[in-house]
Amino acid sequence: MSRKLSDHVILADKRACQHTGRKLTEKRQRILTLLLKAGCPLSAYELTHAYNKVNKPAIMAMSVYRILEFLESIQLVHRLQSANKYVACSSLLTCQHHPFSMFVICQSCQQVEEIPVAENLVHQLTSTIENTGFLMTDTQLEITGICRRCQ
Ligand SMILES: [Zn+2]
Ligand SMILES: [Zn+2]
Repeated sequence: MSRKLSDHVILADKRACQHTGRKLTEKRQRILTLLLKAGCPLSAYELTHAYNKVNKPAIMAMSVYRILEFLESIQLVHRLQSANKYVACSSLLTCQHHPFSMFVICQSCQQVEEIPVAENLVHQLTSTIENTGFLMTDTQLEITGICRRCQ
């Protein structure tokens, strides 16, 4: 990571303000920081464990779920459906605009890459699927593969 962790949290805080009119609470910041530090997907259970190792008072898994739900709603984190784990949004590391993204997951080391996808490609995909009469309820794209390091 080239920039400091705190810079990403500041950016996340700004985004939270834009979306909700409020800053991130300390607990939300801590959970986000843990995810940024991890640099890989973590489950809510793993996050609870990591949180309680360094913070007092201890947090309950239920609260972690609620925090993750909130962070996900303003796209600061993403839930990978295939793994049921969470990653910090990569646009926190680059710019403020959140594009439509695709997640490429390494089947060997579980490392995840969030890649922006062109909007017309998304439209094309959506209409192709809807032409079959299938009603899409979620458009998150997750692709499994083997990363450069594991090849
Ligand atoms: Zn993102
Ligand atoms: Zn890998």
